[in-house]
Amino acid sequence: MSYKKDVHETLQKLHTNANTGLTKEEAENRLKQYGTNSFQEFKPPSMLRRIWEQINSMLIYILIGAAIISFIVGEVSDAVIILLVIVINAVVGVIQESKAEKALEELNKISTPKAVVKRSGIIQEIPSEQIVPGDIVMIDAGRYIPADLRLIETINLKIEESSLTGESIAVEKDAAWITDNDIPLGEQKNMAFMSTLSTYGRGAGVVIHTGMDTEIGKIAKMLGTQEKAMTPLQKKLAQLGKILGIGAIMISIVIFLIGFFQGREPIDMFLIAVSLAVAAIPEGLPAIVTIVLALGVQRMIKRNAIVRKLPAVETLGAVSVICSDKTGTLTQNKMTVTNIYANNKRIPVNQLTINDQTEQRLMENIILCNDAIATEEERTGDPTEIALVEAAQKVGYDQKQINNTYPRIFEIPFDSERKMMTTVHQKGDHYLVFTKGALEPVLDRTAYVEENATKIPFTNEQREKLMAEANNMSNEALRVLAIAYKEIEADSPLDETVEQDFIFLGLTGMIDPPREEVKASITQCDRAGIKTVMITGDHQRTALAIAKELGIAEHEDETMTGTELNTISDAILQEKVAHVRVFARVSPEHKVRIVKAFKANDKVVSMTGDGVNDAPSLKQADVGVAMGITGTDVAKGASDIILTDDNFATITAAVEEGRNIYKNLKKAILFLLSCNLGEIFALFLGILMGWPAPLTAIHILWVNLITDTLPAISLGIDPDDPDIMEEKPRDQHEKILSKETGLFTIFNGLIIGLLTLFAFIEGLTIHSNVRSIFELDFSNLSEEAIIFAQTMAFSALSISQLFHSFNLRHEKKSIFTTGIFSNPYLIGAILVGIAIQVMIVTIPIFNQWFHVVALDIGNWLFILCLAVVPIIVNEIIKAFKRTVA
Ligand code: ATP
Repeated sequence: MSYKKDVHETLQKLHTNANTGLTKEEAENRLKQYGTNSFQEFKPPSMLRRIWEQINSMLIYILIGAAIISFIVGEVSDAVIILLVIVINAVVGVIQESKAEKALEELNKISTPKAVVKRSGIIQEIPSEQIVPGDIVMIDAGRYIPADLRLIETINLKIEESSLTGESIAVEKDAAWITDNDIPLGEQKNMAFMSTLSTYGRGAGVVIHTGMDTEIGKIAKMLGTQEKAMTPLQKKLAQLGKILGIGAIMISIVIFLIGFFQGREPIDMFLIAVSLAVAAIPEGLPAIVTIVLALGVQRMIKRNAIVRKLPAVETLGAVSVICSDKTGTLTQNKMTVTNIYANNKRIPVNQLTINDQTEQRLMENIILCNDAIATEEERTGDPTEIALVEAAQKVGYDQKQINNTYPRIFEIPFDSERKMMTTVHQKGDHYLVFTKGALEPVLDRTAYVEENATKIPFTNEQREKLMAEANNMSNEALRVLAIAYKEIEADSPLDETVEQDFIFLGLTGMIDPPREEVKASITQCDRAGIKTVMITGDHQRTALAIAKELGIAEHEDETMTGTELNTISDAILQEKVAHVRVFARVSPEHKVRIVKAFKANDKVVSMTGDGVNDAPSLKQADVGVAMGITGTDVAKGASDIILTDDNFATITAAVEEGRNIYKNLKKAILFLLSCNLGEIFALFLGILMGWPAPLTAIHILWVNLITDTLPAISLGIDPDDPDIMEEKPRDQHEKILSKETGLFTIFNGLIIGLLTLFAFIEGLTIHSNVRSIFELDFSNLSEEAIIFAQTMAFSALSISQLFHSFNLRHEKKSIFTTGIFSNPYLIGAILVGIAIQVMIVTIPIFNQWFHVVALDIGNWLFILCLAVVPIIVNEIIKAFKRTVA
């Protein structure tokens, strides 16, 4: 029981050292010995299982039934083709599914958390899978605990263990605590367990168990079964599928009955009814949606955005407000202290010399009240703090030496709520208390000011003077920190009460230049109807100065502070939010209110975050975006998307991708639906007119399940529309099948259906040697005439559908503007489709199977002329749309 052993004993048992950690070689050896720090992989389903999943559907059962009946009545070739269609369909399904799964698996790998360990004396970040027993793990607020640890150091460390114990209140940890009793996990204060979450303070621990040996590993089987989440679109499609399914069955019954009463062959009518049902159910859609989403997700990775939750891809395309943190996302997070204010004057750092005790104290303060390390070899920690150490180094201070002279004995860490940080250090027989932070909270705790080494009481005039000085610095886009200290007796209590009666020392001002690419992204968002909102913990003036540089805001009345936010109701905030572009001095819980206010105005909101306290607002937002570099594991865990470069421009790129993906999905879906409708119209109208069936069952099956599939997938991966960011955001309530798209589908389905019938009639007239349909004697048609006419109809149907795919590439732009050859996959799909059709019709053996006959060049030319009709009609409609728009 590790919690019953003291730290020294634990370290000895694990042959490790708390100061240096394991060596690189030893860590490698142990990795071989113990295996990776991960749960056993859960086996992916076998190939047979995958195939079975494809076959195990009502639709396939119907088809198998149809094949068996065809076989019994002697239509062997029909039976063979139906089986062939089933097999090809299953194979394509399996390929699509595994491709999509692979893409998602890769994604899981990328988003596994990293851990900070000490190895060979150096603190480094490694993938948590490589952690081994004996590793020394460093913990700070917001990190997942990567393995089971015996804590060796704790500074106000709190850990939330709900994933293990169900208890959601964070427990305080204490490395020095020990017991002889048997106690449950939740009470083991000197332990930290894998997959729990540190929420406050910091600490270190030695790894005692990894992977399946950890407490959570023992119950990992429960975690192994992950539910597949459906995106809103997939859910809607599943619903649509059901409605169409019912419709299909009804149409099939009606067709069967009409045909039956017309005295047609029942077996033919049965097969036709079955194939119509198959035609009406868009069974390929869910698979196509999954593959398009998965491929889109891969493209997003290339643009530095990792999508954690698939539905986010769709939502991204509808985003109308992007709320972004300032530091690191809009700015470079490369802080440099440029000015110091002390002894009543402001001096640029490069002209600074230390002349008296006040300036000296200020320099010691910014080194000591600081968790960053800045040496030649190593540079870790918060950029604000690194900048402070570097400033002190510039004027000749040695970080290590000062840290050794004044050892830290107590601290109250920085958090974005309090906006300050305090440390207590030993100095001889008494203590030095140092604090630094935002001006307001520090001044609120100030009682004196030190000027030229003299302590004077802090007055209201002084407060105003300092505020004015800080405002000047902020107006120049500088981040301002106030620095203060005091001395206390060694027997004073070490708790929150140390943060009062400070002696004010001075101010530091640091620049953090905006990221270069961000300005262009913000302009792009403006044009795309997306509002950019800056949310920052920084001062209002600093924030506005940067907002001006980036083109986010112009005037002070476009800003709002956290203090103002506290005084207004949600209803007023909802009203005001429409004009505010900069929220300054806000804390994380304000972000939730801001998101809610935008959502109440029917906006689709994306919100960025990095800290532990950002999780609620990330969850609340329609798209929660976490920072990949500076973000805590908590923020990442709560997010939908992670930016691997923390860059605002990446959010814009992801929105652009999201818009394109949604459009492409819409193209694939509308294409399939209009084609299916074409088949239904052709057959339904033909039968209704009392003509011989214009298509046989296998023609319909073939076109529907084989010919259509490739163009649909190709439309799903259509190249990005360069003008997509010129459009307004999509209405979040928009349905794929709206009035407009519904009309498009019906209209095009009707054209394709009529063309098919036209080809059929033309086939009959040619073969019967008459001049027009009116001279045809439908009661006395030869078998050959019908087969010839069906061949014409079958070919016209498949080729016009293949050509029709061009119409979906853009709802307004002409195909010549989008570029006929700009989607090579689509060109390939169409060529393959035509080649297959020509083969079926020309090669004798296929002729027999498909009940078709060879066509001559004149017939083909006629079919070609028919097939371009949908393109011509749609081009005219698009031209009309462009002129009215
Ligand atoms: P954002 O990333 O949201 O744009 P931010 O990084 O400016 O904002 P916080 O990190 O919450 O916001 O910081 C808020 C304020 O707290 C800063 O303006 C600064 O005055 C103060 N501050 C920031 N870092 C520290 C620190 N390490 N120690 C003390 N005070 C700090």
